[in-house]
Amino acid sequence: MNRVIIVMIAIIVIISAIFTAFAILKPNREETVKEETQIAEEEILDDCTDEYEIMQQELETTNSNEEKTSPNCSLEIKTYFKGCQHITRQYSNLPENLVNLSKEEIQEKYPECEVQSFSNNEVILYNQKEGECGEHYLLKSEQGVVSIYQVLENGNLEKIEETGISIEYLPETDRMNIEKGIEVNGKQNLNQLLEDFE
Ligand SMILES: [Zn+2]
Repeated sequence: MNRVIIVMIAIIVIISAIFTAFAILKPNREETVKEETQIAEEEILDDCTDEYEIMQQELETTNSNEEKTSPNCSLEIKTYFKGCQHITRQYSNLPENLVNLSKEEIQEKYPECEVQSFSNNEVILYNQKEGECGEHYLLKSEQGVVSIYQVLENGNLEKIEETGISIEYLPETDRMNIEKGIEVNGKQNLNQLLEDFE
């Protein structure tokens, strides 16, 4: 009988030892589980932000995809000359190698310019240069015929064209002005004035 009791006591001790061990270990296990869930939640959050950023990036890409230069896009280059404070404008069709590019890509091609305006059918670039625009002219009469001189930066005159326009048929005020010399800035203004004389 004694043996049976001892064995039973031993079994009870072992069982209670196991229970105690569980009771002690249980909270720890729960904590670990909690930590795991927290980490898992954080990971989910991180995933979400990443996906959000990717979505944003994709949105931006599609936006710039929408705004790309078309084959019939025009290009205007404005140049401001610090020396004379004139702005020259060059108009052209967009070169083929610039077709189907975004604003950023156009900017990369022209690092010295600022993309002032951008749409799929018109691009305006702006830049600044030292010196003068080189479009300062003087119209003078020589032996009754209108001649065009370019006024150089040092103030010297350089004859660039004899127009063949005779001053004798021009209105008197024009004739008097040309005899004194008419200063014109800008190629466009010069051409306009010559058209008026012809
Ligand atoms: Zn100028």
